[in-house]
Amino acid sequence: MLPCSDKGARNLEFERVKMKLADKRDYYEILGVNKNSSEDEIKKAYRRLAKKYHPDLNPGDKESEQKFKEVNEAYDVLSDQSKRSKYDQFGHAGTDPNYGAGGYSYYSESPFGSDIDLGDIFGSFFGGFGGARTRPNSRVRGSDIEMTVNISFLEAAKGCTRKIAYERIESCDKCSGTGAKPGTSPKTCAACGGKGQIVMNQRTPFGIMQTSRTCERCGGTGKTIEIPCGRCGGQGRVRAKTEIEVNIPAGVSSKQILNVAGKGNAGKNGAEPGDLHLYINVAPHSIFKRRDYDVWCDIPITFSQAALGADIIVPTIEGKVECHVREGTQNGDVFKLKGKGIPKLHGRGNGDQFVKVHIEVPKNLTSVQQKALKEFENTLTEKNYQKRKSFFDRIKELFEG
Ligand SMILES: [Zn+2]
Ligand SMILES: [Zn+2]
Repeated sequence: MLPCSDKGARNLEFERVKMKLADKRDYYEILGVNKNSSEDEIKKAYRRLAKKYHPDLNPGDKESEQKFKEVNEAYDVLSDQSKRSKYDQFGHAGTDPNYGAGGYSYYSESPFGSDIDLGDIFGSFFGGFGGARTRPNSRVRGSDIEMTVNISFLEAAKGCTRKIAYERIESCDKCSGTGAKPGTSPKTCAACGGKGQIVMNQRTPFGIMQTSRTCERCGGTGKTIEIPCGRCGGQGRVRAKTEIEVNIPAGVSSKQILNVAGKGNAGKNGAEPGDLHLYINVAPHSIFKRRDYDVWCDIPITFSQAALGADIIVPTIEGKVECHVREGTQNGDVFKLKGKGIPKLHGRGNGDQFVKVHIEVPKNLTSVQQKALKEFENTLTEKNYQKRKSFFDRIKELFEG
């Protein structure tokens, strides 16, 4: 029932992400430390640079803000033993959950692992940083899911419906996404008062600096769950198999992506879900080839059909049609069947079909056939051949002229 595989999508994603990551700077370089630096050295380097580029100390300086983000991102990876070792092994690919390499599976190892929460990066040392930071209890849109849909040439030409079965993260229906056992509800965290962050004022040479760290009691969500939901274990979201039917419009071609809105992974804390991206892969056809919306095919005809003219049967995407091949048709001649091509996406009308004639010279002639053909050949004169006549005329000029 399911002619879908996510292999192609993974490859596409692979290429795309690799391109995006290629111009990222090396994390060690950003912090100005070397690959063998101890945790302590990394921490010191980070503190120094984070202070240097902190937005509160460089108000309105976009470059500092960018550097500050870079420094935080580098520290986030290098300060975490497992992230650091993945980074050492696979580079930026090892730390990007959407990436194909680095031990991450397509959906990432943890069902919730693909949401990059900037709050964890910016929240670890500093508080009050602009509007860009998010907290673990903020609403995060669900991630998109990508899959490849394999369809035949004719399905692409005429459109089709497909049942797509896949797994996605859904809001837990047992606890309505709260994570608390049905009948109970999450309580405001007593340690942080629901803020998810513990804020401290610290005296520094630059004045009083407000710092904050993620609340350990609630993990930054601001809520504690006394009895977790049995189905989702308190996460509020679960992996579930789902199936949808999609209409694939006539005229689609390989490398096109159909976007099915809202059919990706569920969002965090009630945010909207991601989308489902379907990468269309059209299988080649044994007779037809496609150029944009035009269809091309080769038709073998006999020598006599070409010489005498004939009615021949030509396949089109809508079925067989009868066409007339005119007298004196040459090998490689192309004729056009107007409007017999592929319907145009989002447009009116169809492409055309082009039929290329291939004259098949008969083989394995019997002696009777050979004799008949020789007799026939002897009846031919210059008048019967245009190309031969002009060709030999030119040879004559070349050697005698
Ligand atoms: Zn639940
Ligand atoms: Zn808390």
